[in-house]
Amino acid sequence: MERSALSDRAPGPVLLSRSDIQKRVLEMGREITRDYEGRAPHLIGVLKGASVFHADLVRAIELEASFDFIAVGSYGLTTRTSGEVRLLKDLDESPEGRDVLIVEDIVDTGLTLDYLVQCLQMREPASLRTAALLDKPSRRQREVPIDYVGFEIEDRFVVGYGLDYGQHYRNLPDIHLLGN
Ligand code: IMP
Repeated sequence: MERSALSDRAPGPVLLSRSDIQKRVLEMGREITRDYEGRAPHLIGVLKGASVFHADLVRAIELEASFDFIAVGSYGLTTRTSGEVRLLKDLDESPEGRDVLIVEDIVDTGLTLDYLVQCLQMREPASLRTAALLDKPSRRQREVPIDYVGFEIEDRFVVGYGLDYGQHYRNLPDIHLLGN
């Protein structure tokens, strides 16, 4: 795949194809549907990376569901976290009393998800669970529970399906390793 004219790195080989992703997201949706039977999960997507996954996951859940979005940041134009998580956009509605499911694209060091879990727990949801499409357990700095994991991957930087490198490549339908 070609490098964007505005980026210094190009997408490399495909790690997870669009059909691998679609199949797994449908399975996750079925699992969530089973677990939340009789309840209406409130799916909080973490912008911007989880937006594509969130859109597919909500449609794979066969229950009444509501959603909201939150944005946090810790990466600049780099493949390593700065270690500092900042809230960039808060929720539109209070999660109090709701069955909240945080929807993340990828959990790497765990700093972001740990921050979000603490931040949401303080707002007294009825329940709080987490879903992540990708899990990179080898780089974990915070032990944070992930209730629904799509795929466990090695410590490689990936782009596509919402995931970016310096805001590039989010719209690729497959997940690629970042190339040179
Ligand atoms: P953590 O705080 O280190 O767990 O990082 C979580 C955030 O870092 C994710 O929500 C992503 O936005 C970003 N991130 C971590 N690894 C990757 C990657 O391989 N590709 C793109 N973004 C990543």
